[in-house]
Amino acid sequence: MIEVSKIRADFPLFAQPENRDLVYLDSAATTHRPRQVLEAIDEFYRRDNANPHRGAYRLAERATTAYESARSRVAAFIGAGRSEEVVFTRNATEAVNLVAWGWAERHVREGDEIIVTELEHHSNLVPWQMVAQRRGAKLRFLEFDQAGNLDPVQLEGLLSERSRLLAITQVSNALGTINPLRPFIDKAHAAGALVLVDGAQSVPHTAVDVRALDADFLVFSGHKMLGPLGIGVLYAKIEHLEAMEPFLFGGDMISSVGYHSSEWNDVPWKFEAGTQNVAGAVGLAAAMDYLDGIGMEAVAEHDRRLTRLAVEKLAPIDQLHLYGPMPERGPVVSFNLATIHPHDLATFLDQKGIAIRSGHHCAQVVMRKLGLAATARASFYLYNDEQDVERLVTGLLQAKDYFKKWL
Ligand code: PLP
Repeated sequence: MIEVSKIRADFPLFAQPENRDLVYLDSAATTHRPRQVLEAIDEFYRRDNANPHRGAYRLAERATTAYESARSRVAAFIGAGRSEEVVFTRNATEAVNLVAWGWAERHVREGDEIIVTELEHHSNLVPWQMVAQRRGAKLRFLEFDQAGNLDPVQLEGLLSERSRLLAITQVSNALGTINPLRPFIDKAHAAGALVLVDGAQSVPHTAVDVRALDADFLVFSGHKMLGPLGIGVLYAKIEHLEAMEPFLFGGDMISSVGYHSSEWNDVPWKFEAGTQNVAGAVGLAAAMDYLDGIGMEAVAEHDRRLTRLAVEKLAPIDQLHLYGPMPERGPVVSFNLATIHPHDLATFLDQKGIAIRSGHHCAQVVMRKLGLAATARASFYLYNDEQDVERLVTGLLQAKDYFKKWL
């Protein structure tokens, strides 16, 4: 079981005078960083900083080792067979775009189909809309039901010999839906389609094993899992990376350059043009060490317990409408309170020191389907505890009271 007071002591942000009273319930957007991650970044810049892959001197070798060790650390964290299957990107969004440009431009033809789900974050939808427009392909949608769940049987009806890709999130950032991926992946594979898994909300919260999932592509962001901003990951099976074109061109991604044409470096470096975010990769590796030190099972259990508690406490509040599957869901609780606009609610709660999200959560298709403009969203992580849930509930009751003259 996670000892939250001990965990919180590792996070300098919570110790700042202006944050002492903060109830941070927006980890689905970005998390905070423990000192272990901050120190790893600081130490890299103080001790090992140089441009990797280029210098012949020892300092540059240390920078290269730091960067490539981080790659191996990421591979181990997600159960990849080889570190070459890990490409560093800026974030999950860039990783999806890398697949869209590097793979889909070559493998999706006119009349082909790409299947996405209605649950997707814009990052895993808009790039596929653009591929469909550029390639003359068709987007097909796997719909969620009233509870917010997807049905693998419905996928069977969508799959055909024209299906090239299924793009599916493992956990919805808007509704918290947890998709049990294996049946979806197996069905897509049986039809000859590849599968891209959006792990932005799953990799930070639960043990993800790409080989057990048999995912072709997995994307996620470091900043949602205690790592730095500006570092993300594309995992892809090596044969897919070999069959992909680079999407950014320039230094370090080449093996030889002539006047008019060039040859590419090996995988994965051919996808990493220009000087990379080495400190970001080092920080992400430190975040993974930190999470593994606690144990991903313990992290998942903690998140589950808090989310269940939040649902239990919020559900009885009069005029509070909860969205998404009950009771099992990722650590995300979306809701509306009476007719209070979520932005007003979030602003009110902020006055009480409670940070929640409000808006469409970059999931406008979800909002359209539910007939909503926006929801309020509380999301939890390992530094939250029962008191945070209590403060949220109290804040909501106070908001209801405050806004009642306008309701
Ligand atoms: N996918 C999901 C499910 C997300 O929640 C997010 C961010 O909120 C993303 C993708 C995009 O992540 P990033 O903005 O770090 O690229």
